[in-house]
Amino acid sequence: MLLRHTPKEITPRAALTINPAKTCQPIGAIYASLGIHKCLPHSHGAQGCCAYHRSALTRHYKEPIMASTSSFTEGSSVFGGQANLLQALNNIFTIYNPDIVAIHTTCLSETIGDDVPQIISKAYEEGKIPKDKVVISTSTPSYVGSHITGFSNMVKSMAMQLGGGSSCKKDQINIIPGWVEPADMREIKRLCREMGLNTIMFPDTSGVVDSPQTGKFNMYPQGGVRLDEMQRIGDSEATIALGKFTSQAAAEALDAKYKVPCEILDLPIGLRATDRFINTLRPHSRLKVPESINYERGRLVDMITDMQQYLAGKRVALFGDPDQLISLSEFLVDLDMRPVYVITGTRGKKFLRHMQEILGEAVPEAKVQHAKDAFLLHQWIKNEPVDLLIGNSYGKYIARDEDIPFVRYGFPITDRVGHTYFPSVGYQGGSQLLERILGVLLDRQDRDAPEEGFELVM
Ligand code: SF4
Repeated sequence: MLLRHTPKEITPRAALTINPAKTCQPIGAIYASLGIHKCLPHSHGAQGCCAYHRSALTRHYKEPIMASTSSFTEGSSVFGGQANLLQALNNIFTIYNPDIVAIHTTCLSETIGDDVPQIISKAYEEGKIPKDKVVISTSTPSYVGSHITGFSNMVKSMAMQLGGGSSCKKDQINIIPGWVEPADMREIKRLCREMGLNTIMFPDTSGVVDSPQTGKFNMYPQGGVRLDEMQRIGDSEATIALGKFTSQAAAEALDAKYKVPCEILDLPIGLRATDRFINTLRPHSRLKVPESINYERGRLVDMITDMQQYLAGKRVALFGDPDQLISLSEFLVDLDMRPVYVITGTRGKKFLRHMQEILGEAVPEAKVQHAKDAFLLHQWIKNEPVDLLIGNSYGKYIARDEDIPFVRYGFPITDRVGHTYFPSVGYQGGSQLLERILGVLLDRQDRDAPEEGFELVM
């Protein structure tokens, strides 16, 4: 009973968040920056912010997450952080030698009002940035938005400040994958390759935050989109952006600047969302959808059909990030399950509209909220229980208190491994996700079965 103080009665709460279903903007900005090859994320603020952001990412990805900081003191908090940032850039290029530094702000530097682009210009003028190196920046005040906002802001800045192009269109498309795991980014690239497409994916954290153990420390692993690739994104024939909340802003900015038409899709989690992704790739590919992909789809459909009786009608509560919740909810509806409670900590009315399209007719009793916390979700569950909870590791407290089967999904997952290695996107990812859902439901059925009903074959 770790959350024993959560009351069943729901009273109005306007200015208090308990057990937030989000974290702070710079965490998203750092994750996006790590998707650029040889990039060092830099936090323009106090050491404590950077330490928290690095530890949050390290706990999830189980990799040492590198980021530098302007190390604000009381003096910089009063007089501004220009001197600290100039010194930091000098140190970073002298000691750590990245190709790119991606600066994000924090609550403190935003409140002071530091003009980071002006400080970067001054650093260039003073020769603190070597000629062949690049510094980009984005604004991530964490008193608005969430880690999703920070991710989106950095991806847009990446497209605008690193992106380039000639007037000559090339046989390639841009993929903006949204906030997904490195394994998901690898799977999206594989699907594109199978479709015969040349792609530039940005950001791309595969091979960065899931790099192999080689016995040697490599500060800049092999993965990540390269600067020369970014300089060609303006020549692509299209941009496919996955996730309205994480990728739309960058795709539209790229369209406005380089006339690269964009299509905004949901994350390809589950059957229908993956169908839409493959269908969107088709006109850009000179090939038919290969049999290998059709077979992957067929296997997922077969698995759903075989196991449907264990899924039908099960009530599910979900919390996490909006792009993931949208696709997950659609997948659950396709499985004949009932996502009755859905909460994101990120603000956005478009989330409610999109969820209404998915759940309006299929699950009319569903309660969906944005900018809310896991405390409210727990109260809803106390009032009317569910059969399954899906969310990040913080959900384990609710799952234990209410004795609910629990599938870890989203960010952060701090108490299990596998989320970074096994995809949940595409048909194969859908099969793996379904296996995890079925696993906890069948484990529960086994646990609760009387001896005469404890079946070997289910
Ligand atoms: S919320 Fe603001 S002050 Fe707190 S860690 Fe994030 S950036 Fe720093």
